[in-house]
Amino acid sequence: MAYQDYLTELPNRARFIEYFEELVNKDKKTFSIIYLDLDRFKLINDSFGHDAGDKFLKNIAAKMKDLVGPEDMVARFSGDEFAFVFVDLEDLEQIKQKCREILKAIEEPWEYFDQEFQIKASAGIVNYPDDGENISILLRNVDLAMYYAKENDLDFKVFTDNLSENFIEQLTMENDLRMAVEKNELEVYYQPLLTLDTGKINTMEALLRWEYPKQGFISPAQFIPLAEKSGLIIPIGKWVLRQTCQQIKEWSSSYNKEMRVAVNISSIQIEQLKFIDDVRSIIKETGVDPCRLEFEITESVLMIEPELVLAKLNKLKELGIKISLDDFGTGYSSLSYLKKFPIDKLKIDRSFIMDLTVDNYETGIVKAILDLAKNMELTVTAEGVETLAQLNLLKKLKCDKIQGYYISRPIPAAEFEQEFLKKE
Ligand code: C2E
Ligand code: CA
Ligand code: CA
Repeated sequence: MAYQDYLTELPNRARFIEYFEELVNKDKKTFSIIYLDLDRFKLINDSFGHDAGDKFLKNIAAKMKDLVGPEDMVARFSGDEFAFVFVDLEDLEQIKQKCREILKAIEEPWEYFDQEFQIKASAGIVNYPDDGENISILLRNVDLAMYYAKENDLDFKVFTDNLSENFIEQLTMENDLRMAVEKNELEVYYQPLLTLDTGKINTMEALLRWEYPKQGFISPAQFIPLAEKSGLIIPIGKWVLRQTCQQIKEWSSSYNKEMRVAVNISSIQIEQLKFIDDVRSIIKETGVDPCRLEFEITESVLMIEPELVLAKLNKLKELGIKISLDDFGTGYSSLSYLKKFPIDKLKIDRSFIMDLTVDNYETGIVKAILDLAKNMELTVTAEGVETLAQLNLLKKLKCDKIQGYYISRPIPAAEFEQEFLKKE
């Protein structure tokens, strides 16, 4: 009994470790360990009671037994953690395939009284002897790989040597980012948009910067994905919005009443139930005129839950906020989106502007987007304009606005004020 899990009758952790030693001693050359943990298993216990939880685990255990061969083993380590050792799977593709089979079996819907529910799992994979010379190193590494998969929303992760380094770095950065707002390490930079036919600058894009003490200023491309994964994008996004609302209120009253600021909004923010309420309260708190605001979203936002997103975008429009579709041309660039959603503007992705020269493939694409936009009465901004030649070509193509290093890099508020506002 010391070797068996009482509930599922699977071998327990102690037996698993012993079996591993037996395999090593039998001179088996290579084998793989898969380690998995059920996601949100606690939900079953909490909402249906422990009896349901137990039945669920027994059901899983039975399915897992069917997936292992006579020389392999599946063990229950603790609550909702299972470990497998596979002996005859030699190449990585085979072991990955096995892992997918296991995860798929776990995800099959399960019925309990008239309720149907579904549980997912995350897994890690290690190979002996490549990923560790003994069982304790292997179990530590497989746990790390599993944890990495969970954190990064992957089904499974195969352990690699640099995983622990990367992961520790990621966790440290995540921790530091959590404190960044409080420690005043975040700053909003502004990049101007030039209106081509008037030569005026009426709009700017707010771009977040983080002065990370360990590395200096780092690009949002490096930490926004991390902020999205950890949910930190919610407080950070609110901070950015509050900051830019204050700034635009101040600037539009002292310099130019028509001035607008574009703020990047992540899909995670829009998905929040409270998103519209948060926007409303920031507007109220800062006293900004919502007509001064544009929200930049990407096409991926429109795909989450189209009806819900549509309702939210309509609410933003009612408030007077303009909606701009960012990075246009890189995603599905679907016409039906443009018709269905209340979009005011398109921003053509930098990748199409980069290689813009007289009459090449990119010029054709930009022309097509501009034609399309004109028909739909959308304003178009070209991103990433770095040369006068690009500017001239875009002017000829009748693009509305341009943004890019040719006009200015993103710069701190004080500098923006000096460069672009005092001169008016
Ligand atoms: P994005 O919205 O596409 O922003 C434009 C990016 O292109 C910015 O990078 C900008 O600095 C860069 N850029 C502008 N002109 C040029 C140019 O002429 N040449 C080149 N090579 N690059 C140019 P940045 O500031 O590093 O921001 C990267 C991305 O991070 C942004 O891409 C945006 O998706 C995201 N981001 C930035 N701030 C925020 C924020 O406050 N909230 C959210 N959710 N995302 C943000
Ligand atoms: Ca943007
Ligand atoms: Ca963009």
